[in-house]
Amino acid sequence: MLKRIMREKCPCCGTINESNEKIFKRDFSPCRLIVPFVGYDVFSCSKCGLYYAGNIEESMPLDDYYELMSRYEGGNYHSISPDLIELYRHVVRLIEKTVPLEADIMDVGCAFGGLLNELKVAGYCNLYGVEPSQENCDYAMDYYGIQVYQGELGDDIPELRQKKFDIIILCGVLEHLMDIHASIQQCRTMLKQGGRIIIVVPDVSLFCEHKDLYQEFSIEHINYFDKKSLQYLMNLEGYVFERLERSHINIMGLAGNSISLWRKAESDCYLNYKQKEYTDDTNGGMSAYLEQCADFATRMRKRMYDYDTGKGYYVWGAGTNTAMLVQLNIISEKLIKGVIDSNLNYTGMEVYGNRVLSPDELRAEECLPIVIASQYAYSAIEKKIKNMGLKNHIINLFSEEMDDDK
Ligand SMILES: [Zn+2]
Repeated sequence: MLKRIMREKCPCCGTINESNEKIFKRDFSPCRLIVPFVGYDVFSCSKCGLYYAGNIEESMPLDDYYELMSRYEGGNYHSISPDLIELYRHVVRLIEKTVPLEADIMDVGCAFGGLLNELKVAGYCNLYGVEPSQENCDYAMDYYGIQVYQGELGDDIPELRQKKFDIIILCGVLEHLMDIHASIQQCRTMLKQGGRIIIVVPDVSLFCEHKDLYQEFSIEHINYFDKKSLQYLMNLEGYVFERLERSHINIMGLAGNSISLWRKAESDCYLNYKQKEYTDDTNGGMSAYLEQCADFATRMRKRMYDYDTGKGYYVWGAGTNTAMLVQLNIISEKLIKGVIDSNLNYTGMEVYGNRVLSPDELRAEECLPIVIASQYAYSAIEKKIKNMGLKNHIINLFSEEMDDDK
């Protein structure tokens, strides 16, 4: 079946990919059966400055992907990490500087209501959320007593038909969207006169503050904003810049976020509000990030030379970190003798030329070294291998590099 190629233009200003610089390529093809994309190119737009995933080749419809991932729901689903709570509190502080406690506030894509609850704790009382998952909506009501409506931005939700807001929050939303204009436009219609949007997105200028192997270019994140490209987008949609703050906290192994505030300009004259373009206050965040990742890759490759004995190794981790290690020739697909993953959604799937084994199945296999291919969970995995009493030599590829930072 012929698969679709998506995004042949910049999703912000429409400049065609051919006119933009290609700065990186992600290749997920060895694990295409467990991810929605075969790969994409990362572009730097020559006109608006946005970095984005373009020429995205689909491997399965997104709905199939989410179905695959939800067959076995993980445990601790409703817990919020201390890091995330700190980010939420930063957003709350910005809102406190901006609107009084009786303001009408909407959190779009609010998950199970963690940020709304922080607002409630701060004393805000007119809180609303929209969220696709009914289970999340129920949780927000049952545990936080906050009304969250099931649906997506743009859906006709009868209770919200006449409702207008002082603040609409898009936290962790824009970096995921194929169509970044539609939701910003939709928000405009839901805002009161002079209402504001708060946007929380990973910030390119902070990518370098955290060591990783190109994981900012992920399956989930396909738009990479800095202050300049965000300003371009928001001006285009009729919003005036008010404030931008940065949160340096790493969330789930990824970079910090910018938290920015934008006021809706009046409809008939908003284009006049177009402000002078930013001189970016960061030192070419993206190129520094690419350099840092390339350096990290070189050092990992050197560490793997010792294991290039022809006997091979297992890889622990079926996901996209492994795809990156293969793409960068840090590990070799022909030397992978087995892939292990604790995520039962993956068990039995074919990736990297092997069937994914559950940890227990590894006991019956030959005792070869295990490469831990996870940046986020490497210590937990190492602990698990030791607790299982396995005698395999462990190559913890990410740990040495990450521990350098401590
Ligand atoms: Zn553009």
